[in-house]
Amino acid sequence: MTEPVILLVEDEKQMRRFVHLALSAQGYKVVDAESGTLALQQAAAHVPDLVLLDLGLPDMDGFAVVTRLREWFTGPIIIVTARDQESEKVKVLDGGADDYITKPFGAEELSARIRVALRRNARSPSDPKSAIMTVGNIKLDLGRRLVFVNEAEVHVTPIEYKLLTVLMKHVDKVLTHKQLLDQVWGPGHAHQMQYLRVYMTQLRRKLEENPARPKHLVTEPGVGYRLRTE
Ligand code: CA
Repeated sequence: MTEPVILLVEDEKQMRRFVHLALSAQGYKVVDAESGTLALQQAAAHVPDLVLLDLGLPDMDGFAVVTRLREWFTGPIIIVTARDQESEKVKVLDGGADDYITKPFGAEELSARIRVALRRNARSPSDPKSAIMTVGNIKLDLGRRLVFVNEAEVHVTPIEYKLLTVLMKHVDKVLTHKQLLDQVWGPGHAHQMQYLRVYMTQLRRKLEENPARPKHLVTEPGVGYRLRTE
């Protein structure tokens, strides 16, 4: 097996060196790019397995880079953001990035995110649309439209079922409020964030052992939600 190739897009030299070394030590082949323009060139030249993209680049904004990459690139894109880039972060996630990590972060957190993203990506295209999906003790039977917790059937409403299905289909991926509202309620509901809050609370009450401290149905503050496996 050849090592996965990661395209590292970061203009700050120190940061680039730190991430490059950390990922090389994990066995990844790392290709560097210090601008958005170079990122697009390197991506086309190396066809990486994953792109790690800093949002604060000198020549292009992150949204533009992701949009251009998504014209052909299907692998995971993880964006690296600073604390003051909250609104841009959501826009770029809506635009096709898979996940985000906020500076400052440690090498362990970064490699955990990369591992999960690569695993998700390896699984999804080949998955023969299995009729049963499981996350922890939660089981969704798509064929019979039933939900189980610890093998006991749990009654859910049609909206709750749809919301859970969308989360399950993108397990471990962060989904923005807009993405969830579009997929569950349909376009035109993008501002009805209170719907989501209400239904997520209901789902947690039905599916989580401790709804106040959910293990699987987790909130991504200011961004959306994620169904987490571990
Ligand atoms: Ca930067």
